[in-house]
Order: sequence, then C-alpha cells, then structure tokens
Amino acid sequence: MGNKKIVVALGGNALGSNLVEQMRSVTDAVKPIADLIEEGYEVVVSHGNGPQVGVIQDAMTLLSREYPEKHPHFPLSVCTAMSQGYIGYDIQNKLREELLDRGIHKDVTCVLTQVEVDPDDPAFQNPTKPIGPFLTREEAEAKKKLRNHVFIEDAGRGYRRVVASPKPISIIEIGTIRTLAESGHIVIAAGGGGIPVTRGENNHLKGSPAVIDKDLASELLAEELDADFLIILTAVENAAINYGKPDEQKLGDITAEEAKKYIEEGQFAPGSMRPKVEAAVKFAESRPERTALITLLEKARDGINGKTGTRIHA
Ligand code: ADP
Ligand code: MG
Repeated sequence: MGNKKIVVALGGNALGSNLVEQMRSVTDAVKPIADLIEEGYEVVVSHGNGPQVGVIQDAMTLLSREYPEKHPHFPLSVCTAMSQGYIGYDIQNKLREELLDRGIHKDVTCVLTQVEVDPDDPAFQNPTKPIGPFLTREEAEAKKKLRNHVFIEDAGRGYRRVVASPKPISIIEIGTIRTLAESGHIVIAAGGGGIPVTRGENNHLKGSPAVIDKDLASELLAEELDADFLIILTAVENAAINYGKPDEQKLGDITAEEAKKYIEEGQFAPGSMRPKVEAAVKFAESRPERTALITLLEKARDGINGKTGTRIHA
C-alpha cells in the first residue's frame, strides 16, 4: 500500500484576477498543499481558470481586432491552454519554493492536459460557465452588443460572460500524470478543467469552443488516479443551504444522498457551488471509502482532519 492519494482542486477565483494578485495569492495557496505533502499524502493539484481564461480571451480579442490579418483568431481552447501555462507556471514555482524551504526535495511539474468532451453534449446549446471578470450591468450590456456574448448574474457578485461547459469524458494525458505522481513527483494537471477536445477521424483531437468545469474534471482526475480524497478549495469554508439568506445553514458532514436532495432543491448556484457538490457526490459514490471535501483554501489541513468544511461521503 502506498501513501493516501489526494487530488486538490484550487479555485480560479481564489487565484486573483490579474498577475500581481495571482502571484500574491499563489504564494499563500501553495502552503496548505505543502502541508498535505509534508503529512505524507501523494498530491496531484488541479486548478480553475474562470477569471483568467476570460482575461486571456479578452486580450486576444483586442489583438485580433488591432491586427486582423496577423492574428485572425484565438479559439477558447487555445486560451485554456495558455491559462494552464500562466497559472501552472506560478503554482509550480511557488510550491517548489515552499517545499524547498521546508527541506522537502520534490520535482513539481505542470502537465498540459487535454480533456475529451462529446461534440453532441447538450451544454453546447446552453452556456452556463462564467468566465472573465465580474462586470456591472452596464458593462455587460455594452459587451453583449459589441461581441454577441451571453452574460448572467453570478451568485450576487456581478455580471459575467458564460460559455458552454460540456461534461468531461476522459483525460488524454492520464497515463503521463499517473506515472509522474507514482514516481513521487508533484503534478499540476487538468488546469481550468483541461483543454476541451473532441475526438475525430483516426482518433485525432480537435480543440472545442468551451470551458470544462474544473470541479468535474478534478473529480474525473481523482477517480482515474484512484485517489482517496478529493479536496475542493474555494472562497467559502462550507457549502450552505439557504445561502445568503437570514436562515443560511452551513453544511458539515453529509451523505451523498443528502447532498443530492439539496442539489434537487436548487440550494447551490449553477456554475459555482453546484458543480462542486455534484463532483463531491460523484466521487463519494464512486467507491465506499472515498471522501470529498469542500472548504476554504486556508483550511485544507483542518478540513482533512475533520475539523471544518463540508465533507461528503457515501
Ligand atoms: P471557484 O473559483 O473556487 O470554483 P466559484 O466562485 O465557482 O469558486 O464557487 C464558489 C462560490 O459559490 C462561493 O464563493 C459562493 O459565492 C458561491 N455559492 C453559491 N451557492 C452557494 C452555496 N449554497 N453555499 C456556499 N457558496 C455558494
Ligand atoms: Mg468555479
């Protein structure tokens, strides 16, 4: 028996909305991950890219508009690939430094990861995944006219662009990720839910105009790696029912059955908390001894020791 395996999913919203913020946030974000490595867990890290992929696409759109002949088009899948590098590079170096400072010598490596989606996934007809910065209603209206993008109001925090978010089917580089992790390296994989691709003729892959939810992709990664824990680190300490209302109630230890009942009641906002709870349920139900945890970034260690967070088990 090897060490217990954990997939830790870092929230894109906890990584800051520009490079300066990100470098600061990542310095703190890697500490709880280093704690888990120090405790002897085999850790694979995934991360979100919602705010970042939107910013990258905005930048690329400006470039295309300025130089239409030189830079005609940057597909969303390419923007996700860029975001894996932009975020992974930072996590990789900060985590390496944090481990070195603790006397732990391990390689930290980011694997550019593609994730297969179904081209006929109904999600392509119904965009739900918020990307980019939070906008005021006026800013959203102006962009809607200019670019034909779809916007929604996101959990009381402002308006955001939404794109299609198909379900992850398979992780193309899973063999590489598994080999590296089993050799004792720390791997960062499936960033931003993975680069969405569809399978074509001769098994060739083609980038797809979508952003896969990183919580669902992290769940798939955790199952495929045969992990014991899936830890989803985000901006709230607990998932809650009656969220934001006077009778809000934080959820602690709950069963997958209870979680499913709350999902059906519409207790979790789609595109933010709902995919986390769905991912947690799926993981908990995939094998009896598997547990998923949703908590605040800084509370990862307390969460895994059963002191806080929302824990979902079979
Ligand atoms: P991440 O970037 O970590 O994926 P998201 O913004 O996508 O974070 O999702 C976490 C957010 O979900 C919380 O910060 C909170 O604002 C929102 N949220 C929506 N519904 C709930 C709920 N029922 N309980 C807790 N948080 C919720
Ligand atoms: Mg999210």
